[in-house]
Amino acid sequence: MNLIKFNGNNSILPNLFEGELTYLYIINSIACFFVSIFAIRNFYYGNYLLAITLSSYVICSAFTTYQLRKHRAQQSQINLCVTILLFALYLTVFNWGVSAVNWFYPVVIALVFILPPKTSVICNVLVLIGISWITFEALPFIESFRLTFSLFLSMLISYLVGAHVTKLHRVLQHESISDPLTGALNRRQLDQHLTQCKESYNNHKIPASLLMIDIDHFKSINDTYGHDVGDDVIVGLVKLIKAYCRPDDLLFRIGGEEFILLLPNTSLDNAVNVANKLTAQLKAEPLIEQSVVTVSIGVAQTRDEADSNSSWLKSADELMYQAKLTGRDRVCYDS
Ligand code: GH3
Ligand code: MG
Ligand code: MG
Repeated sequence: MNLIKFNGNNSILPNLFEGELTYLYIINSIACFFVSIFAIRNFYYGNYLLAITLSSYVICSAFTTYQLRKHRAQQSQINLCVTILLFALYLTVFNWGVSAVNWFYPVVIALVFILPPKTSVICNVLVLIGISWITFEALPFIESFRLTFSLFLSMLISYLVGAHVTKLHRVLQHESISDPLTGALNRRQLDQHLTQCKESYNNHKIPASLLMIDIDHFKSINDTYGHDVGDDVIVGLVKLIKAYCRPDDLLFRIGGEEFILLLPNTSLDNAVNVANKLTAQLKAEPLIEQSVVTVSIGVAQTRDEADSNSSWLKSADELMYQAKLTGRDRVCYDS
């Protein structure tokens, strides 16, 4: 079923159907109230086609809003509402004269936020062509130009504001999920990704593994070389880990010098290989010139279906501490 595809991360514009729907309900209720009054008025004046079109819009829009509330709305329903509304607007101009063109202003702005970007551009270009044609027929050139150009500017400003809001939203979203020093994900995201991996394991027996990584004797690195060098070591380690990661692997910074590398679709053997390569590479290419930085790693794979996220984390953590207790600079895993 072609349910409304919320804009997600790919769209260049915000969408009123995304997230909190209160504003959409408010705008829609106000629009439906006034459109109902116009429908009654047009019945009274004998403009039956316009009255029926306006009534259809109210019914269609109320039904679509109800569907949205129930998370069952389809994009085709929104498109139908928009089509009826635009048709009603053209009929209004036809029945009440060219001054009714003013109603197009709020509508073209709304289209920017309720339709997918490409569809809204196509709709707005068609509106612009229609309006310029109607006004050029009915009005002196300068007045027609004024109306068309101001409508075009309203559209343009709406697109620019929309794109700006989306850009800010992405920046804030990125900042809320990532660690400023390293760019790794922060702890907030961890549980959600662990749950996804557990579901893949429970439903399709696709294993996932996690590496609990802790830098050895990091305090003494700070004490010996200074905090800045300590920071460089953390950043260098993240770069190194990322160089070994596949695009789907996820790195989380969960403490000062502690990281979790979540490897979806990875068996314990393969995860241990990754961990061993990391420890070897740290020795082959030291993160600081003066001394070799080592890490202790605990590796745990998704196991029992009944295991919770926290017990998965706990077993990796215990294995990492086992690596610490048995001399550091090593990889421990459940054999
Ligand atoms: P172990 O081998 O047992 O892990 O010892 P450790 O010294 O690495 O662990 P400990 O927990 O004793 O010390 C961690 C240190 O990491 C203490 C803290 O000052 C330092 N640290 C935490 N966050 C940062 C950071 O962002 N930058 C720097 N430079 N140091 C940090
Ligand atoms: Mg440490
Ligand atoms: Mg630590």
